Amino acid sequence: MGAGTNDQYAGSAGLTDSIADLRLEQPGEAIVVSVLVPAPVERALDYLAPAGTPVGAFVEAPLGGRSTMGVVWGAGAGDFARERLKPVIRVLDMPPMRAEMREFLSRAAEYTITDPGLMTRLATRAPGLTDPPGARRIYRLGAGRPDRMTSARTRVIDVLEDHPGLGFSPTDLADLAGVSAGVLKGLAEAGALISSQAPRDAPFPPLDPEANPVALTDAQRQAADALKASVAARRFAAILLKGVTGSGKTEVYLEAVAECLRQGRQALILLPEIALTAAFLKRIEARFGARPAEWHSAVTGAERRRAWRAAAAGNAQVVVGARSALFLPFTDLGLIVVDEEHDASYKQEDGVRYHARDMAVLRASIEGGAALLASATPSLESWANAEAGKYARLDLPERFGGAALPRISAVDSRTTPPERGRWLSRPMEEAVAERMGRGEQALLFLNRRGYAPLTLCRACGHRFGCPHCDAWLVEHRFRRQMLCHQCGHAEPAPEKCPSCGADDKLSACGPGVERLAEEVAARFPDARLAILSSDLAASAAEQKARIDAIAAGEADIIIGTQIVAKGHNFPLLTLVGVVDADLGLQGGDMRAAERTFQLMRQVAGRAGRADKPGAAMLQTAAPDHPVMKAILSGDEEAFHAREAEARRAAGVPPYGRMIGVIVSGRDERRVWASAMALGQAGDALRAAGCQLLGPAPAPIARVRGQSRARLLIKAPKGVAVQQAAAAWRRSVKPQSGVRVILDVDPQSFL
Ligand code: ADP
Ligand code: ZN
Repeated sequence: MGAGTNDQYAGSAGLTDSIADLRLEQPGEAIVVSVLVPAPVERALDYLAPAGTPVGAFVEAPLGGRSTMGVVWGAGAGDFARERLKPVIRVLDMPPMRAEMREFLSRAAEYTITDPGLMTRLATRAPGLTDPPGARRIYRLGAGRPDRMTSARTRVIDVLEDHPGLGFSPTDLADLAGVSAGVLKGLAEAGALISSQAPRDAPFPPLDPEANPVALTDAQRQAADALKASVAARRFAAILLKGVTGSGKTEVYLEAVAECLRQGRQALILLPEIALTAAFLKRIEARFGARPAEWHSAVTGAERRRAWRAAAAGNAQVVVGARSALFLPFTDLGLIVVDEEHDASYKQEDGVRYHARDMAVLRASIEGGAALLASATPSLESWANAEAGKYARLDLPERFGGAALPRISAVDSRTTPPERGRWLSRPMEEAVAERMGRGEQALLFLNRRGYAPLTLCRACGHRFGCPHCDAWLVEHRFRRQMLCHQCGHAEPAPEKCPSCGADDKLSACGPGVERLAEEVAARFPDARLAILSSDLAASAAEQKARIDAIAAGEADIIIGTQIVAKGHNFPLLTLVGVVDADLGLQGGDMRAAERTFQLMRQVAGRAGRADKPGAAMLQTAAPDHPVMKAILSGDEEAFHAREAEARRAAGVPPYGRMIGVIVSGRDERRVWASAMALGQAGDALRAAGCQLLGPAPAPIARVRGQSRARLLIKAPKGVAVQQAAAAWRRSVKPQSGVRVILDVDPQSFL
């Protein structure tokens, strides 16, 4: 098998659907094509393929003793003896990958300094894509009910009722409901499940843009008209939609989706949190009369394949999904919505490191579609792009229905501290008590999972640390475990100190949500408590059930980590109390101020959505800090302008470019030798106009047993920093067992 140079990664110029460009040796004979395989390879590899195989065709090809799916990327490079080339095993019966998609993958690979093969892997990540279509057995909801309903049986029925009209394969259904095959059998015998044959990959029901239009307010109408005009223009546009929580951003962008449907083009809506999808799908169904396709890690394999194929066939009109949905093979993508565009979870932090917001804009520009970034608290990147005129900007300054924005106040924890060993100050407690008296809900926000971030022995000073990481073990009392939040290492909660053997001397330091819950339960014994923390729900379905219960008023006090900040609507909630507003400002990350500002505004925005006015209270030891003052005054434009000025002066994003470099491996000496070698090879980078900083130990110097060093490349805008960094990286051979990762536009510096 050969590998050829492939200069077609450069951009659209080399991409074509014409088979005339293929190196056709003799009509009717095999031709030499280059195939990009979903593996860490830098270039496409040459293979023989049947004459007439088009560029973009999906093929099955032999690779290192096994077979893999690949995409014909162009004519073979031809620099490898034809006799030694292997033929592809078969050309798959699927629509070829479009030129736009190939260009997107090539440019995304270039931008993120990733092997193009790994980008292709993102674009083919659905199980069984190469399987022939066939029939499968599915269960639908029947009218019968067994004499005895167990909780397992109820869960099965709930899953089917949640997805009206849909059938599930027995494995998927058992999986979704968390039950064994035996439970399904019992339900089938009672007639509660009906078994039938369904074609694999049933088509999605059509969505109707006129099904249930909403009467918009004047401000909403203006924004919606502008968006609709953009979508109708069928050209690339990037638009920032900034609107306070509850202003109707979603209603407004659904009008853009409607216009996209009228245009006969596909729309993609990205959400930052899987737990939000279920409620969102219902909203789409209410507006457009049918459920759209869904794509994220909690969707079953069969459903993922169905969505992938439907996107490729043009039959999925709307896909709602997580960031990886960006790599679906849409045939005609007219609109990409990135909801809560500021959310840090849009940056993928392992494997291929890409920012879904930026890749959405790239993809829209290639597809000739609109990229719509929606947020109440835009990222400084998008705000600056709007300031610079690169993005259009639309504003919705008022809440729908005239609901007032929450009043935000501070409790100075220096002058009004909580009692020793407690976390709620007197004013905070009183504010909660007031809500209880009125039958309203209060939310206490603390962005720390578990019981306490640190456990130590008061006899000998022993601290519980992770054996694999440079991190404390966090006590999780409900689970009776000590957990490492870096690597997931778990051990049983200790009964005595492992170091000195003393019992009764272990002491929890600092608060986590579980500890806060203990304090709240003692202070408000009659209140119904709900804790929302990502580690406390077993599944996305359970998380959703908890959220629905809270929204329905089944809790008085909600204690939550940052998952409560994201888009949930709790109509009875009138008070948000932030237990430690200073938490995010520690650590000195260049985005600390921005993130704290966004998080505090988002959390505060949960209060008082309906007809009841809301209030937010922040416990802070630094009420005079410029970030706190900006949060309290709510003057977002001033905050952004000031923050922008500071970043411009420092030459950091969005006013300069950065590439993080992480050097890691088991052997600390080798890691450092490699990091030093990289540090010493910086001349070419400097010649290209970049700065190279480091190496330095990473703030978390060991994770999962891997030692970690960091370097940082900085460059002014306009420097071809990716090219320079890629060449620099290639010029140094790391020692064996050492990995070097380049993180373009890093969000995390840990
Ligand atoms: P955002 O996305 O800005 O937080 P939403 O679009 O979710 O705001 O709107 C907040 C709430 O107000 C939702 O319950 C929504 O249905 C309702 N709403 C917003 N605009 C309208 C409208 N024009 N007519 C009826 N309800 C609306
Ligand atoms: Zn660990």
